[in-house]
Amino acid sequence: MPEKVVHASRKRTRERHAWVFAREVQRTEGDPGPGDTVLVYDKGKFIGCGMYNPNSLIRVRLYSTKKEELGLDLLKKRLEQAWQYRQAQLPGETDFRLVYGESDRLPGLVVDKYDRHFVVQTYAVAMEQRLDLICQALAQTFDVESVFEKNDSRLREVEGLVRREGALYGEPGRRVVISENGAGFYVDIVNGQKTGYYFDQRITRRRVRELVCNRRFLDVFCYTGGFAINAALGRAATVVAVDSSAAACSIAAANAELNKVEDRCQFVGAEAFGYLRQLARNGEKFDMVCLDPPAFIKSRRGRERGLEGYRTINSLAMKILPKGGLLVSCSCSHYLFWQDMFDMLAAAAQDAGRSFMVLDRSTQGPDHPFLFNTPESEYLRCFILRVI
Ligand code: SAH
Repeated sequence: MPEKVVHASRKRTRERHAWVFAREVQRTEGDPGPGDTVLVYDKGKFIGCGMYNPNSLIRVRLYSTKKEELGLDLLKKRLEQAWQYRQAQLPGETDFRLVYGESDRLPGLVVDKYDRHFVVQTYAVAMEQRLDLICQALAQTFDVESVFEKNDSRLREVEGLVRREGALYGEPGRRVVISENGAGFYVDIVNGQKTGYYFDQRITRRRVRELVCNRRFLDVFCYTGGFAINAALGRAATVVAVDSSAAACSIAAANAELNKVEDRCQFVGAEAFGYLRQLARNGEKFDMVCLDPPAFIKSRRGRERGLEGYRTINSLAMKILPKGGLLVSCSCSHYLFWQDMFDMLAAAAQDAGRSFMVLDRSTQGPDHPFLFNTPESEYLRCFILRVI
């Protein structure tokens, strides 16, 4: 083991957090550099091994409470544990987020599994330095056709990493068929958004399928039709789905055919705010509306402007719901906490002149587990409201 050491002093409430922030570091020994493995001591007590980055406010990401290197063996062990956990939580599912960073004790690493194609994202220098090892670990643990690096996230910049993407192994799939809750979806790994598909909404999509029967369903920010297809399979009366990306709409239409529900689905390439405004102006009604926008709040500083966006889009959606209508309102902004979201929805209801009851709440699926002591790992929040 290296003799690079970080001495930190953390508050009691943060003692079990997966990160050591720069301001908590008291001193270092052995001059650790970007990506180096360090032994971390908190008030003199050994707390674990982590990966160091002098260029990030997240100075250390802890990956083990033992003294061990993050080499091929540990990577394989962690992958195996991640796989076992998902087998237990998502019985019968074959496609999911296989690794969700800190929650799988592989900090700064995300791996999505699309059949035999794997997509990797890294958010830490040490993980980026291990891309070859990660590929090997995947290939030795699973039946792998390709591994694709999709590092286009802005989050990388705060770690001092540049955006990049490309095949690490094999040929990435451009039309991989995956399944979720028994529905099929095409995924374009190379040209799709993020890693290709949003696995995090698995639970809420299932809930929509249960609630939608005979309702006219509107899916706003539909991407490749995750909610729309589930609504159609749940026997919605009609499904209209909207996204500003023409590429997403065309895959969504192909997904409707794949699931043999194209007769009930209509996909519209349009900007969501304007489209909803038009519907409201025309007095059109939908019995169930799903809002799953991109993150409007990307940092603490962007909170006020983002809140405005959420409030506007929600009040517009509320206006087109009749009595008994359902609103599925989602936020993937980490900084929009439950209470903030509740308050925002209350304000939007006020704007729209509607009253609601809360039917349900849900969050990211079990392949994106969040850590009790690392609240940053929770980001997806959904309310299901009913007009009274
Ligand atoms: N509901 C989707 C995921 C939505 S991701 C699913 O279940 O898979 C957010 C989507 O919003 C992206 O597809 C993006 O193209 C779209 N988008 C972003 N801004 C938009 C806007 N102003 N109007 C319409 N769509 C928008």
